Amino acid sequence: MTGIAPFQFSINPGRIVFGPGSLAQAATEIERLGCKRVLIVATAFQKNDAEALAEALGPQAAGVFAEAAMHTPVEVTEKAMAAYAAAGADGVLTYGGGSTIGLGKAIAWRNDAPQIVVATTYAGSEVTPILGQTEKGLKTTLRDPKVLPKTVIYDPELTLGLPVAMSVASGLNAMAHAVEGLYAQDRNPVSSLQATEGIRALRAALPVIVRDPSNRAARGEALYGAWLCGTVLGTVGMSLHHKLCHVLGGSFDLPHAETHAIMLPHTAAFNAAAAADALAPAAALFGGAIGAGLYDFASSIGAPKALRDLGLLETDLDRAADIAVKNPYWNPRPVERDGIRALLQRAWEGARPE
Ligand code: NAD
Repeated sequence: MTGIAPFQFSINPGRIVFGPGSLAQAATEIERLGCKRVLIVATAFQKNDAEALAEALGPQAAGVFAEAAMHTPVEVTEKAMAAYAAAGADGVLTYGGGSTIGLGKAIAWRNDAPQIVVATTYAGSEVTPILGQTEKGLKTTLRDPKVLPKTVIYDPELTLGLPVAMSVASGLNAMAHAVEGLYAQDRNPVSSLQATEGIRALRAALPVIVRDPSNRAARGEALYGAWLCGTVLGTVGMSLHHKLCHVLGGSFDLPHAETHAIMLPHTAAFNAAAAADALAPAAALFGGAIGAGLYDFASSIGAPKALRDLGLLETDLDRAADIAVKNPYWNPRPVERDGIRALLQRAWEGARPE
């Protein structure tokens, strides 16, 4: 027995309503928050769903703003703020994935609106106090308890139509929060339990979803895993993996979930020896060698494997390595330029980590 290492743990407040059909509880949850009229926020792609929800909520819906976009551009937030004021809303209901949830958080950050989220991907933003925003092409990230949604509804029925490719990439994005959470400097016994269980659930569910996208049990298991992994992201600090994905998304405009999916086996392999004990529960789920195991798992479910397939040029790799080693996040293994450049090369080629 090694004993429990000393730890500090701040638990994020938040109410979780989980289960098939739980969207039907939206009206009660809006009331519980003390809101009378919420602005429903969505992407253009999910506008019909948002409008159907507004119809069902009747006077509890102040209107629909269906212009949420990737990376939370400030111009869109300003438009949404105007829509919020014009509609006389007293809260926000965000219906969608990380992009939509980002807009809800951006509104709340500016006007303290209470937020209720109906989460429809596995990205995990709904349970974090983190907000990324883009202004004039520059993405900045802040952490503030006031952007943490007060209520999250997880209804697996709403994920039945999440395309398989998006489910796979988004599921691996969620797993990446948990893998990094396992070796986080400020981890605690509970965040490690959540991380391990989140990875286990997604590890079990994703192959079933690939074979049978409308499998309700697997959709529920995946969303449950995503909640746990997102909770870990909202609780402890992230390291090299999130730094690299931030660089690749922010400076090279690579798509969020797919970039996480490609990078995860490589960043896990990079840290495997330095964080062997912390990663042991995850390594056990992937056959012992975490990097190669994650790579084989991701391949088996058809995840994208190579950064070059996302449009990144080989000539971009030097600059990506340079940016990544500037102001690095804490990482269990020291972050050195040569090692990062080699990691990026393998991820660009889609090679299996050793
Ligand atoms: P997304 O929100 O951009 O969604 C991608 C597309 O899928 C959108 O068109 C969306 O409308 C659609 N979609 C969502 N759910 C669907 C469903 N169930 N069925 C069919 N279509 C559906 O993608 P994402 O990966 O969830 O979010 C990525 C964004 O979230 C990035 O900007 C990222 O930075 C941010 N993010 C933030 C945090 C945080 O803690 N702040 C955490 C994770 C991700």
